[in-house]
Amino acid sequence: MKYLIDKLYKAHNLTIEEFKSLIEERTPEIAEYLFERARQVKIANYGCDVYIRGLIEFSNYCRNDCYYCGIRKSNTGAERYRLTEEDILNCCNTGHNLGFRTFVLQSGEDLYFTDEKMVHIIKSIKNRYPDCAVTLSIGERSYESYKAFYDAGADRYLLRHETANEEHYKKLHPENLSLLNRKACLFDLKKIGYQVGCGFMVGSPYQTVETLVEDLMFIKELQPHMVGIGPFIPHSDTPFAHKESGTLELTLFMLGLVRLMIPEVLMPATTALGTIDPLGREKGIQAGGNVVMPNLSPVAVRNKYMLYDNKICTGDEAAECRFCMQKRMEGIGCRVVVSRGDHRSCNK
Ligand code: SAH
Repeated sequence: MKYLIDKLYKAHNLTIEEFKSLIEERTPEIAEYLFERARQVKIANYGCDVYIRGLIEFSNYCRNDCYYCGIRKSNTGAERYRLTEEDILNCCNTGHNLGFRTFVLQSGEDLYFTDEKMVHIIKSIKNRYPDCAVTLSIGERSYESYKAFYDAGADRYLLRHETANEEHYKKLHPENLSLLNRKACLFDLKKIGYQVGCGFMVGSPYQTVETLVEDLMFIKELQPHMVGIGPFIPHSDTPFAHKESGTLELTLFMLGLVRLMIPEVLMPATTALGTIDPLGREKGIQAGGNVVMPNLSPVAVRNKYMLYDNKICTGDEAAECRFCMQKRMEGIGCRVVVSRGDHRSCNK
């Protein structure tokens, strides 16, 4: 198996069959070898630096009904909220004082935030904080909308593809959502000029080794700047309430593989990883990750953006999260960097 990791390290790719056997036949020893290689590649590209992004969850209204997600439209138990532009700017102000130079605006698919409103918000942030990057994570919109946000100053866009297998996608989403459109959005975003992030959950219901390999193949094809990978965790008020969580072990393995496949990728150790294991984020960084995304959302709404059960850090102030993260990263020999932390290909 080690020769496959060496091959991936050198060629940045494997055949479908090779990926499949690597995942199927992985052992703790192989995983450790993978992580060593992944760290080596990461350090060659980014040193020991870990980039921080301030996450602002500005609305949990959603028009979609994804079976896995706690803020799906049908979850009448979710208490809905929207931040105002002023609230969002306040979060940015707090974040900027704490050293954040990237703000990630994430929400459900909430069409209350029209193109016009989003453009206004993006322009206000960029106006006030010209040294900062704005990342959007607000789901599927038209090419024209994405273009308008980009022209307003948005720099990056996160849109996980969730699974690259058509049948699997249908098992996770209602009929009106399609993998085809999801992928089209990602290619549109790239074409417009965004730094783009895709990604998937590990251990989502009906996932197989085959669909995971398809995820890798799709990532190879898209060549994203960022990849978000976290374990699936059930939410008690969704159709997947009784499904099992994804494992820490497989999530780390996938992070390692993606680092070798795309050496320069920006890859977060996600909150979901920190939720299934108290040291999940540290382990995610040690498996090849190089980004963390502490929460900047106001404490008053923190526990309402519940994508899954038991989400961590829902009671903490932004500053606590920021310094907790710094301590955690320093504890594993990493340096938290105060800069925009653009992808290496972008010399803004
Ligand atoms: N509406 C936006 C943002 C979605 S939330 C969009 O569609 O892109 C961000 C990510 O959280 C999702 O892409 C999904 O991969 C993840 N997520 C949702 N529910 C989850 C769950 N139950 N467990 C783990 N991750 C989940």
